[in-house]
Amino acid sequence: MVQVKPIKAFDDNYIWAIHDTTQKQVWVVDPGQAEPVVKFLNDNQASLQGILVTHHHWDHTTGIASLKEITPQLRVFGPANSPYNGITDPLYEGDTITVFNIELAVIETPGHTLDHICYLNHKLCFTGDTLFSAGCGRLMEGNAEQMWQSLKKFTPLKDETLMYCTHEYTMANLAFASAVEPDNQDISEYKQWAASRRSNNLPTLPSTFGKERAVNPFLRANLSHISEYIPKHIKSNLSEPWQVFAALRVWKDKF
Ligand SMILES: [Zn+2]
Repeated sequence: MVQVKPIKAFDDNYIWAIHDTTQKQVWVVDPGQAEPVVKFLNDNQASLQGILVTHHHWDHTTGIASLKEITPQLRVFGPANSPYNGITDPLYEGDTITVFNIELAVIETPGHTLDHICYLNHKLCFTGDTLFSAGCGRLMEGNAEQMWQSLKKFTPLKDETLMYCTHEYTMANLAFASAVEPDNQDISEYKQWAASRRSNNLPTLPSTFGKERAVNPFLRANLSHISEYIPKHIKSNLSEPWQVFAALRVWKDKF
């Protein structure tokens, strides 16, 4: 049986463990730290089979070198154009990889960084720092139009598809989401649920794409009412959805 479980790292990162509990084998996504991964492996008497990387940032890749010292033959899958030099198996848009019995397609999602990729099928998606629950990654390398095109690649996913992102930013993102859409009931309900999860120190993740389509302002930039809420001083030309997205991103950066 394969389960996806969070391993906490740093202050608010999750390293997702894809855990075959029968074979006692594990893949991890974005191990920014080695120690919590090693502890997870020890606690579960499991061995590490492979690593998936979404992008080059240090909090997603720093643990890899130590994990490779422990398991030298470890394969590290990641973006072909990544500045991170520890990738053994470079991936491009349209590639597929098989993790245990799970087939995952690769999509390129530049915006947060230029090398960002996500791994997905109709049941689950590892979104890294491209899409967060109720939010999205900052534009650190790419531009708004690029990021909007990247987010549109999630459109074919079902409402039930599980969304596994790398950071527990949900509460802060929901504060912004309610500023954008004060009357959105789904946001208020989700906020209550998320607050109770966090007060019990439980993750708000995974989310689902159905949930995100209902609450995430960055996925809702194409809805006509969203642009009406954007303060005029932020951006005046909001004729295209990507321009609404750009304005939301600027607003959130200052929020
Ligand atoms: Zn990042």
